[in-house]
Amino acid sequence: MVRGLLVGALLLGAGIAMFVVNSTDSQSPPPRTSPLPPPPLEEQAEPGGFAADRVTPIEIDGKRFMTYLEAVCALGPRMSGSPGMKKQQDLIAAHFEKLGLPVRKQTFSAKQTSRADAIDMTNMIVSIFPEKKKRVILCSHYDTRPIADQETDPRKWREPFVSANDGGSGVAFLMELGHHLPKLNLDVGVDFVLFDGEEFIFETERDKYFFGSKYFAETWRKATDRPAYTAAILFDMIAGKSPRFPAEGYSYMQAPELNAHIWRIANELRCKVFANQVGSRVLDDHLQLLEVGIPAIDIIDFDYRHWHKLSDRPENCSPEGPTQIAKVLSVWLQRMK
Ligand code: ZN
Repeated sequence: MVRGLLVGALLLGAGIAMFVVNSTDSQSPPPRTSPLPPPPLEEQAEPGGFAADRVTPIEIDGKRFMTYLEAVCALGPRMSGSPGMKKQQDLIAAHFEKLGLPVRKQTFSAKQTSRADAIDMTNMIVSIFPEKKKRVILCSHYDTRPIADQETDPRKWREPFVSANDGGSGVAFLMELGHHLPKLNLDVGVDFVLFDGEEFIFETERDKYFFGSKYFAETWRKATDRPAYTAAILFDMIAGKSPRFPAEGYSYMQAPELNAHIWRIANELRCKVFANQVGSRVLDDHLQLLEVGIPAIDIIDFDYRHWHKLSDRPENCSPEGPTQIAKVLSVWLQRMK
């Protein structure tokens, strides 16, 4: 992901005032955010079947989540097209097939600007309740960056970089959710989508991001018989210690209903990792989905201290964020008609 401008928002009476506070880039320290109070109670009643039904949030197994994260990182770096990525694909496919969930691979060829040759990339799609036409996407990138370019010493950039939170946490979270979501009584189907080629960056100034999500979104846009995707939630760096998720700026502006809905449930369940604030705008895979008309938000902790550093390792991760996110998601999914 790439950080963009910082956007602050204040609720002023009935209106919302937006202002640009600061300009940042991916090299800058994480920007500050500004407060966004929870929505007034009268906004909490939703049309179209989103009544405040009492449904039970799921409780994930945090220890098991961590074992998945450790298993993925034990494969080493998982760059697009690398042996580590191939091993990861095998691990993921075996995991979901064991749970009885169909796994589909979407393979395509991608040429990075700074590279001489194109390589094969693969998105992985795991379907829960595949017969349901109305569906939601839960997604993450699963490739890791070739260079740990937030290390101050450039000689360290090419040391083996396992990128636990950035890439690993989304995979481990979906692996854990695979145990729980099939047991819920849902009116919608769920597709887990793991995007390749989000981090295939060798030269930050000219290389392109988001190969996998772009290909997935374009393929969906062109398809005649396609799932009716009503929403997508992207997970990126969700497993830091004491994580904090302010609303991501583009999600807040471009998918306001979905974003408000998720934060409203988080408030209702007292899931404090969801901060009532609007944070940075982050260029990330969700923008490719928004581009083709799928409401999409990014749940991301952009204050993670180990971002793009060799220290982004399982020991600097925790199940706290995933545990709370799973509660919120499960309530959202169960209320969806
Ligand atoms: Zn990254």
